[in-house]
This record gives sequence, structure tokens and C-alpha cells, in this order.
Amino acid sequence: MDALRARLSSAYYAGPALGDALRLNQRLSQQGFATTVGYWPDATATPRVIADAYLACIDAVANQQLDSTISVKPMVMAFNADLIGELAERAGQVGIGLHYDSRAIEFADQTLELVLASAGQRASPGCTLPGAWHRSLRDAERLRELGVGVRVVKGMWRDPDHPDLNLREGYLAVIDRLCGSAGPVGVATHDAWLARQAVQRLLDAGTRCELEQLFGLPTRETLRVARHFSVPIRFYLPYGKSWIPYALSKALRRPRVLLWLMRDALFGHWSYVLK
Ligand SMILES: Cc1cc2nc3c(=O)[nH]c(=O)nc-3n(C[C@H](O)[C@H](O)[C@H](O)COP(=O)(O)OP(=O)(O)OC[C@H]3O[C@@H](n4cnc5c(N)ncnc54)[C@H](O)[C@@H]3O)c2cc1C
Repeated sequence: MDALRARLSSAYYAGPALGDALRLNQRLSQQGFATTVGYWPDATATPRVIADAYLACIDAVANQQLDSTISVKPMVMAFNADLIGELAERAGQVGIGLHYDSRAIEFADQTLELVLASAGQRASPGCTLPGAWHRSLRDAERLRELGVGVRVVKGMWRDPDHPDLNLREGYLAVIDRLCGSAGPVGVATHDAWLARQAVQRLLDAGTRCELEQLFGLPTRETLRVARHFSVPIRFYLPYGKSWIPYALSKALRRPRVLLWLMRDALFGHWSYVLK
């Protein structure tokens, strides 16, 4: 367990501090990758303290003047509209894109309200839609009409009313709803087959898209897909204290991730991206 923890610390997230994220951001940019920097706060901090940390992140990343956005977890600020509004305003002022990650389906309405509150404004934030939820079809149509940027994921939380929804089919159904959107679509998956299908459909519809990858998970096949279609690649860089317990719990729940981690520990798949 200690070895796995050490591996996760060294190779699967930027580090505990903003400075760690900034350094990694710079390195990935030098390799030609876009990024989204995501702060994973200490769950015991107050929403105000967390919002201040996000503000510092927005300012510092904007200052780097790279192709970067900021990913925010509204739930850790208790969906406080004033605090999150501050983040959206600051991001607009410094000209950096903001994105709201998704959590369990019971928080979907609150997240959507935040997006709708600033839709149409300068640098209006985008959000994540899981293919695992039936409601994402409706949400996707609404966001497409508004031209809001959407990241599509399979989703870590299931839809209780549709628990058996096939993840690949659900994902592609959401992608189909986003075809024709003015906002860019983030194809966030490490499933190369799915990435290929999604990117093909979006490009056929003339829709701007990019491949989004979680820093540290296997990318060899998915990067090949992005390069085949000449679409940009954006890495999600998590930093902050709560990433390690999160990553570890996910790894332990999914044997395939553990296999990836062990294989990477042996063969160091990152060596071809980060020298
Ligand atoms: C940038 C980014 C941001 C994210 N943000 C969020 C978020 O805000 N909220 C959230 O809930 N989740 C988020 N996630 C996590 C996401 O929901 C998934 O849990 C996670 O990405 C794993 O799914 P996957 O699509 O990457 O591929 P996986 O399902 O892990 O598949 C990877 C590999 O398994 C194989 N595979 C998968 N399915 C099949 C199949 N049916 N048949 C054969 N082979 C298969 C593929 O060959 C592939 O190589 C994010 C993920 C990314 C990449």
C-alpha cells in the first residue's frame, strides 16, 4: 500500500501545492499539451478558504499565459453561488476558462444552475456531463443551444433510475446531442474505441473538440486517436491534498486501474511524454 501511495504521489498528480501544479503545467505545455488545472481541496476547509485557493489558482495559471483552463468542484464550496460567482468573475477578468466538474446525479441541478447563471457572459464556464445519466441528453441539448463548452465523461456515479445504462452507448448519445454546438466539446475518456467514435462524430458535424485525459492514466492509445484526427489534447492536472485518497480508493475499487499502475511502475509509460 505504501508503494502504491508513493507511486500515486510521484506520477499520478501534480502534488499537494499550487506550485507543484504550475511546474507540471509548464512542462506539459513545453510538450505541446493544453491543460486544465484542478484543485482538490482539503475537505475540512471552509468554502471561503477553498474559494480563496481557487482564486489564487486562477490568478497564477492565468499569469503563466499557457493554453490552460481551471476545473472547479462546486460541491466543495457547498454550491455557494456568491463564492462561485467570484471565481467566474475573476476568471473572466483574467481571461481564463472555468469548468465545473460533475459529482453524483443529485447535485446535477445545482451545477447546471451555476452554468446557466453565467451563460452568455464573457468566458462563461463550461461543465461536465456524464454519459451514465439519462438526464444528460436533455442537459446536452440545453447547453448546445447556449453554446456552452461541455466535457463528456462516462461518469463515476450511476443514474439510479437507469442503473444498467451502457456506458459507451450513453456516452455516444450525449456526444450526438452536442454535435453542432458552438462551444467546444471535451472528449474525456481513456477508452480509445470510444474516443475514436466520439471524435469522428463531432468532426463529421463540424464541431470543435479536443481529447481530455486525466494526468497519469494510460494515454498511449487515446493520444494516437487524437493525433490521427489532429485534435488538441488537454490534460487534467489534479493537485491538492484530497487527490491521493481519492485516487487510491478508485484504484482499489477497479482492478484494471491497479494493473495499469503496476505496469506503469514497471515500464514507466510517462517517460515518453515527460522526459
Ligand atoms: C479529463 C477527465 C475528467 C473527468 N472528470 C470527471 C467528472 O467531473 N466527474 C465524473 O464523474 N467523472 C469524471 N471523470 C472520470 C470518468 O467518468 C471515468 O470514470 C474515467 O475516465 C474512466 O472511464 P474511461 O472512459 O476513461 O475509460 P475506462 O472505462 O476506464 O476504459 C479504459 C479502457 O478499458 C477498455 N474498455 C472500456 N470499456 C470497454 C468495453 N465496453 N469493451 C471493451 N473494452 C472496454 C478500453 O479499451 C480502454 O482502454 C473524468 C475523466 C477524465 C479523463
